[in-house]
Amino acid sequence: KPTLLWLRRDLRLTDHPALNAALARGGPVIAVFIQDDSVTGLGAAAKFRLGLGLAALAETLRAQGQRLILRRGPAREVLEELLAQTGADAVYWSRLYDPQAIERDSRIKSALRDNGVEAQSFSGHLLFEPWEVETGQGSYYKVYSPMWRAVKDREVSEPLTAPADIPPPEQWPESETLEDWALGAEMRRGAQVVGGHVDAGERAAQQALATFARHRIDAYATRRDYPGEAATSDLSQYLSLGEISPRQCWHAGVRAHEEGKAGAETFLKELVWREFAYHLMYHTPQILTENWRSEWNDFAWTEDADADAVRAWQQGRTGVPFVDAAMREMYVTGRMHNRARMICASYLTKHLMCHWKIGADWFRDCLVDWDPASNAMGWQWAAGCGPDAAPYFRVFNPETQAEKFDRDGAYRRRWIAEEAEAPTDTALSYFDAIPKAWGLSADDAYPAPLIGLKEGRERALDAYAALKS
Ligand code: FAD
Repeated sequence: KPTLLWLRRDLRLTDHPALNAALARGGPVIAVFIQDDSVTGLGAAAKFRLGLGLAALAETLRAQGQRLILRRGPAREVLEELLAQTGADAVYWSRLYDPQAIERDSRIKSALRDNGVEAQSFSGHLLFEPWEVETGQGSYYKVYSPMWRAVKDREVSEPLTAPADIPPPEQWPESETLEDWALGAEMRRGAQVVGGHVDAGERAAQQALATFARHRIDAYATRRDYPGEAATSDLSQYLSLGEISPRQCWHAGVRAHEEGKAGAETFLKELVWREFAYHLMYHTPQILTENWRSEWNDFAWTEDADADAVRAWQQGRTGVPFVDAAMREMYVTGRMHNRARMICASYLTKHLMCHWKIGADWFRDCLVDWDPASNAMGWQWAAGCGPDAAPYFRVFNPETQAEKFDRDGAYRRRWIAEEAEAPTDTALSYFDAIPKAWGLSADDAYPAPLIGLKEGRERALDAYAALKS
């Protein structure tokens, strides 16, 4: 009898334990992707990126005489309908860790089992399951460094190879099409522009890892903080959709470490930051929506997401070139460098004193690598209210940061067209991507700063002192 492979954030064939287990049952395997609330609720860029990922996976499956079945509706209803239509007697999937997915998946698992269907979940999205890493006191890690020390020498098994053959069913169930789904339709910006910066799918993911391991990992530790350079792995969008597994990335890092590549350990550490974020989300799901440290609930954040300052920040018009360059980079490419994310998040939450949730929501809507755990942790870290966070009194100065990490100004010039003698094509492409309604033009004057850096810093520190007292 066939097995349904319910795909979610595991759009790959290599190192896919649920797929391998489905194949081990011996019958046909039917890969299904369901557009339920978890998909309709995604931000515009993530949804658009998902559409590209599904198209790439469907193509890979087609080349093997397989298909990707697309259905819309509540997952349980869709699965039950498919079980009836295909005669399948098992549903396998890779585990997710956000509270909505956990609630949905456990409900579905017990309902299917009650009906005699074999329902099983597998690992695949993380290196270490959240319940497998514990402190000496039997709790989860609230601080990153001890978690790194606890896992760094653990045995991580070798990635599974992609199956040579996935047996198809005798008859395919009906499928909707990606054209019907139009997952890019909500992109306020030119989907074409963003699409030009994205190479989706498992093959592209493996290429990104290979390029990184061959050319960039050696200098990763020393160059990874410079937003103008292509020094990082660019793997986040692939990890987010599971077009590559963390285990494949981990083993590439371990091999590079054994070859004496200097940046390899730093790369492994970053992969563990991702694990840390997921473990925190699993154990304290309120990290997604509430200040992780509740003493921050009385902080004088602005919570008005429509405030002029918020709009200026979103549009890359704060008058602080490093912040504006990064915000524009995200709008056009769907990505933003980690150092730039930290600076933009610090500027919004400290200089502008806006609630981190406003920023997290905007990132959620704009990032092609959006990931609930890393985004929430990143924002709470920058705002100072998260676990193992940057202390609030340590306010990033975007000018000093620019002097350090964009000394020759190349990154800022790449993204800011106003008042430039010869604006770069990249800077001009921002004006093709933004909605006409914003009323912005490359011929505008570059805006004056929303607030002086010193004044903003002092205002934030005063508010912090008030909170403390
Ligand atoms: P590399 O430097 O090559 O790192 C390798 C991998 O390690 C990354 O792909 C990522 O999976 C992981 N990683 C690296 N840094 C972090 C980190 N700080 N936290 C968690 N995992 C990390 N990352 C996302 O994937 N999705 C998000 O929505 C997201 N939102 C963020 C929001 C803020 C405010 C901040 C400060 C960080 C956020 N990050 C997020 C983390 C980080 O910025 C990105 O993972 C990184 O920039 C991706 O680029 P890369 O793949 O080239 O990273």
